[in-house]
Amino acid sequence: MTTNTLVNYPHIINGKAAPSLSGETMNVVNPASGEVISTASLGGVEDVDTAVQAAKQAFANKAWRDMPPEERSKILYRCAHVVAENAAELISLEIACSGATITRASNMDIPAVVDLWMNLAESIKTYPLLDNLPPRLLPEQWHTQVIKEPIGVCGLITAWNFPLLLFSWKVGPALAAGNTMVVKPSELTPTSSIRLTELLQQVLPPGVLNIVNGTGPIVGNALCSHPDVDKISFTGSGNTGRHIQKTCADTFKRCTMELGGKGPSIVMADANLDMVAQGALFGVFMNAGQACESSTRLLVHESVYDELLEKLVNRTNDIVVGDPTNPSTSMGPMSTPEHCQKVLNYIKSGVDEGAKLLCGGREVQVQNLEGGHYIEPTIFVDVTNDMRIAREEIFGPVLSVIKFSSTEEALKIANDSNYGLSAGIWSGDLVNAQILARELRAGSIWINDWHMLRTDAPFGGYKQSGYGRELGRYSIDGYLETKTVNTSFERQPEKKIMHRLAYPTLGQ
Ligand code: NAD
Repeated sequence: MTTNTLVNYPHIINGKAAPSLSGETMNVVNPASGEVISTASLGGVEDVDTAVQAAKQAFANKAWRDMPPEERSKILYRCAHVVAENAAELISLEIACSGATITRASNMDIPAVVDLWMNLAESIKTYPLLDNLPPRLLPEQWHTQVIKEPIGVCGLITAWNFPLLLFSWKVGPALAAGNTMVVKPSELTPTSSIRLTELLQQVLPPGVLNIVNGTGPIVGNALCSHPDVDKISFTGSGNTGRHIQKTCADTFKRCTMELGGKGPSIVMADANLDMVAQGALFGVFMNAGQACESSTRLLVHESVYDELLEKLVNRTNDIVVGDPTNPSTSMGPMSTPEHCQKVLNYIKSGVDEGAKLLCGGREVQVQNLEGGHYIEPTIFVDVTNDMRIAREEIFGPVLSVIKFSSTEEALKIANDSNYGLSAGIWSGDLVNAQILARELRAGSIWINDWHMLRTDAPFGGYKQSGYGRELGRYSIDGYLETKTVNTSFERQPEKKIMHRLAYPTLGQ
């Protein structure tokens, strides 16, 4: 197939399709097959500036930012309907650009996106955008209001692993709060986000939601260093996040950082082991391990260690690696050949450092999809928490099993990580599990399951997993500034007691 027969996905700026000013495009590759499936406009610094100016103008004209929350709520409901009405197209774009399985994209991603927009539509109606503090009578009558206002122009930078979810996690609350924005999707998976942006123009004023595709070092960096961008919300790796924070520091941009994880999952001796085997594998193999909140470290009590390993191997045999468009597939491809190689290097490091490979560990070929890169579901046992496979985010289908003998030891291992995004406990004693939950240093704790994300519950990291929260009304907080308006009710200048600090003889 030659690229000139392919559909091009242009930037969307000020409500309209906008090819790059340079005319440049880039190929979009289906990771399942390695085939080029479309092209996308490849943005540069000037495209970012055009989009930021459109967003700045849309913010300045106040129609969106000053719209009553009840009215914005109606538009957010219409956004949810736009997603639902175009679900089939969005699902197929999501699968083709990111390798999401059809089962996941249809049953989790799109319903969750619709639900998220509806939840925000409801939340903004009752969000406390105005607070009145109790009046103070002394030294004079004085009233104080605390007002929450949109921050301004937001730059929203997303990762490739769940393109539509990550887009909605940022765009939804930024819109709900009354901001305008420029999205930079991952250059690996731009098509579904560009198409959704295009569809949402039906219901949003022009310039409120813009999208510019391009590479991180050019388009992403241009957003982070642009003087007219007020906030950056970033989802991606820690190294990029670190770099972005430094760039944003120059202009004191507000930042939200959604970074990686190394989720520890503690299996207590009283856990239901059949449930654990199934749930722990769901925790790590969903999206072939390419999820920030994955449970990648399984900490198992010594008394149930051998029994659980047997169950894990049996249950791993039921994981089907293959074509993501096939409803019976559990795990699709790695995102790129380079990423596949990185995961294989981690597997080699596990072997080199003395962990025992219980199953998997190899790249596999999928029939008729020879251009894709797939890795077997892989389990390491006898892992110690100082090994690279226990410390670093692999972002592939690799589970590291670690043995412990006391609860204190389990908690110590679980918290001995630079990351703190997710953590969990498998136990028959829910009271004890609740007590342990409070000891775990992570933003989301799951008891007797994994990936329990709700569109109305906050999600985000402790430690080097980032800061700020996404999802639900909590995510709106990150897109608001706080203003204090103080009003004095004293009419007579000589009674302004505080003014005596400047005029000591006032009123005498
Ligand atoms: P990445 O850091 O390589 O890229 C993320 C985004 O940043 C992309 O859009 C990229 O183009 C952009 N970028 C790269 N360099 C940039 C720069 N200098 N300035 C501005 N933008 C730049 O991450 P990735 O490989 O796309 O995603 C995987 C990572 O994302 C994993 O670490 C994963 O854990 C994390 N992630 C976190 C969450 C969460 O909610 N915490 C969710 C999904 C993924």
